[in-house]
Amino acid sequence: MSLNIEKQMKAQLSDDILNALKLCSQTAAEHDFKIYLIGGIVRDLLLKRKSIDIDVTVEGDAVKFCHLLVEKNYCKILQVQSELKTAKAVFDGDVEIDFASTRQEFYPHRGHLPVVVKIGCSLQEDVYRRDFTINSLAMSLNKQDYGNVIDYVGGIKDLNNKKIRVLHDNSFNEDPSRILRALKFAARFNFHRDAHTKALQEKYITTQRHKDISWTRIKSELKQCFSLNSAKVYDMFLVNENYKLIYGRNPEIKGLEIKTLVDKYNPYYVWLVYLGTILNDANIIEQFCFTRSEKKIFSDIEYLMNNHLSMMNSNYDIYKFFAKRTTESIIVYYLLTQRKEALKYLENLSLIRVELNGDEIKAMGIQNGREIGEILDEILKKKLNGTITKKSEEIEFVKSKIK
Ligand code: ATP
Ligand code: MG
Repeated sequence: MSLNIEKQMKAQLSDDILNALKLCSQTAAEHDFKIYLIGGIVRDLLLKRKSIDIDVTVEGDAVKFCHLLVEKNYCKILQVQSELKTAKAVFDGDVEIDFASTRQEFYPHRGHLPVVVKIGCSLQEDVYRRDFTINSLAMSLNKQDYGNVIDYVGGIKDLNNKKIRVLHDNSFNEDPSRILRALKFAARFNFHRDAHTKALQEKYITTQRHKDISWTRIKSELKQCFSLNSAKVYDMFLVNENYKLIYGRNPEIKGLEIKTLVDKYNPYYVWLVYLGTILNDANIIEQFCFTRSEKKIFSDIEYLMNNHLSMMNSNYDIYKFFAKRTTESIIVYYLLTQRKEALKYLENLSLIRVELNGDEIKAMGIQNGREIGEILDEILKKKLNGTITKKSEEIEFVKSKIK
């Protein structure tokens, strides 16, 4: 007998979501479509956890199905991808649902994005393109068996045993980003990879990995993993030798040390602090197509690591070394070198500013730009060593120079 989770749905999903799904169900019945909840949401219902997004798969053409919903005024379409025949729609109460047509995929080049070989295949054929058994469960939204879980690959058993299992032996070769997805789900649910999946992953990382892959998915999964600001994710990343996947270093740092610094100094790009301790291969950095400000973090790390002096004698030396560098890169530099000057800069020195500006000094009677620059620098030195603390003292100092 199959497992029915309609009760669980009612307990866990909002009335707006339940209503939207009922409207989909009615429409499917009227027009002879078969539709299913699929992937994460079914897994999360079974785990009694809140889901991030609602995915519905349509056996057939999901865009056509969405247009039927729109004709009845049940929803508005937000976007359509016509090659894949997927659509995103919004229902009353701001309920967004992603509709996908069932599809079969094929990986002509291992590690590259797949090509679609068939759209509108059976649910069973669709399920086999997925990553793990726990993400391959479907739940019927069809009138005759509404709420029944459809499990072609043993996902329910793996959920009960807290196991992450791939669907076939070629899974990581097809798409190595699944290694990072496994890490994400293991950390999120406190699950473990089953022994065979673990062996396949180790085999991929040690003997089969290569650089000619699509890095977009890897980047996206790394971002998701490290944005969690989780010490555990980082520790597992190193223990499982996932750093080899991105041709990075093992810095032998504890995740907790990174998390403590991230929580204290609040960098904007949390994930790049974690990644910055690992990723140091210029070719891969290039492949990640970082934005300009993301790139700066990596060039700053490189600068700090290559230019640091064995001694930084004065606060002024420390200030000058770190002043134009991103917070993320300074944290990474500290983690990699344990140089306390980095923390002194973040904690104290970075807050010190000369309050007078060039125009004010000019108004006091110094016209030469180079001279003004030198005076500002001298004031900075004095502020950094504590001999000047207030603006009035800065003014006194400039006056003494004029005399
Ligand atoms: P989350 O709760 O983080 O959204 P999810 O399981 O819903 O987890 P998504 O990234 O939203 O994950 O993807 C939706 C579904 O698509 C997954 O459940 C899985 O079945 C499938 N999927 C996603 N990424 C891959 C991949 N790289 N390889 C194979 N199947 C994938
Ligand atoms: Mg999802």
